Amino acid sequence: MRINNDFAMNEKYLFIETFGCQMNVNDSERIVTMLADSGYTQTATATDADLILLNTCTVRGGAEEKVYKRLSHFRSLKKAKNSLILGVGGCVAQQEGDHLLLKFPWLDLVFGTHNLHLLPELVQGAEKGERRCETAFIDNEERLDLFPPVKGASRLSRFVTVMQGCDNFCSYCIVPYVRGREISRRSEDILDEVRQLAGEGVKEVVLLGQNVNSYGLKTADEPDFSRLIRSVGAVEGISRIRFTTSHPKDMSDELIACFADQPKLCGQIHLPAQAGSDAVLARMNRGYSRAAYLDRIHALNKARPGIAITGDMIVGFPGESEEDFEQTLSLMEEVRYADLFLFVYSPRPGTKAAELPEELSREQKVERLERLLGLQRRITMEINKSYLGTLQPVLVEGEGKRPGQISGRADSGRIVNFPGDPALIGSFVMVRIVAAYQNSLLGELQQSM
Ligand code: SAM
Ligand code: SF4
Repeated sequence: MRINNDFAMNEKYLFIETFGCQMNVNDSERIVTMLADSGYTQTATATDADLILLNTCTVRGGAEEKVYKRLSHFRSLKKAKNSLILGVGGCVAQQEGDHLLLKFPWLDLVFGTHNLHLLPELVQGAEKGERRCETAFIDNEERLDLFPPVKGASRLSRFVTVMQGCDNFCSYCIVPYVRGREISRRSEDILDEVRQLAGEGVKEVVLLGQNVNSYGLKTADEPDFSRLIRSVGAVEGISRIRFTTSHPKDMSDELIACFADQPKLCGQIHLPAQAGSDAVLARMNRGYSRAAYLDRIHALNKARPGIAITGDMIVGFPGESEEDFEQTLSLMEEVRYADLFLFVYSPRPGTKAAELPEELSREQKVERLERLLGLQRRITMEINKSYLGTLQPVLVEGEGKRPGQISGRADSGRIVNFPGDPALIGSFVMVRIVAAYQNSLLGELQQSM
């Protein structure tokens, strides 16, 4: 709402485009919060913006080109409005640094993955015509105090970062190089944030990090992840806890036990296998075998029968034979993932796997990807159909896609749409599932909880 014309004249608009993972989504929320204090209101339209930021990802090939295309596209806006500020942050910024400023003379600022807190200063400088790049890593305790909080995002479900960076160096992955060393936040800071969110009416927290289940393992005075979950579960007002992402090698018995005895912990886990063959897993430097992975899956199913398991799988890793690939198909049949993110391997410069010879053509990789997609579509549909007739507790999060419908998530993370009154948004309801689709379920409201 605009209060008077003077205020309207001073209002500045931020357009932010986010690429990649939930970590980037969470960083973008942080950026929006920080820049609100500098007078910027978020807009959904780039043409309205006084400041355009691209929060980038470089996990797979082609990311840089995508960003370059967007920068070229925004050049015309800059030509039309000289005061427009253009910035790039995230993993591509971390990787390319001030080359970006040289390559794109109309770009004003570049900020790395450890430099979010400098953004208000960089923007202020850019308003005066300065062009700056800040990409220094902060690989010490100081980083723990540089977590600007998120305000004003979705009221019901919020990300809470518990750790940053990664020390695993999977041979294909660029994350440790662009996100830096693994660092766990202090548990007290995390719990303060969760309490604060509960006070604001947040019902669900999603504990976030590249490898959340190694939380606290390298810090003498901090609890491990299972104990952190128990403490978060004790926060009044928080009804649901989810977390992402977990690494199979750090999936402890204590953490699995939380699925048995922590009712607030949702029956859903993202546990990427990446491949089904031991030979490929070893070349990927994943640190577990197929049998060890399956052991964790069986333990999870025992602790929480019906748990929805999701994962990531890479197809066409260097040296992946037809037999290796069939091991991936058979792992998928054995685990029965509720959903799977499938990636065609792409070499990332500087990683160990990028030095391995690639034997598969693009066409072969795509053909294998299609086979994985077909199998996963069948399994997902079978799992979705298994919910038919069941009662599901749903946290109503918003209006549905169709008029008259509202929508939320079941404990399993599945989206459930059903006819209902938008006044129910924010409450838990019981919904009977009456139809199953590939990406969602349709229900009928039974009762409010
Ligand atoms: N930390 C998480 C983990 O270990 O599962 C995920 C990190 S990464 C941002 C998300 C996914 O991207 C990975 O699980 C992997 O499947 C995929 N990925 C990473 N590097 C890749 C590459 N070079 N080519 C294809 N897919 C890749
Ligand atoms: Fe990348 Fe492996 Fe770390 Fe995940 S665990 S971020 S895949 S290096």
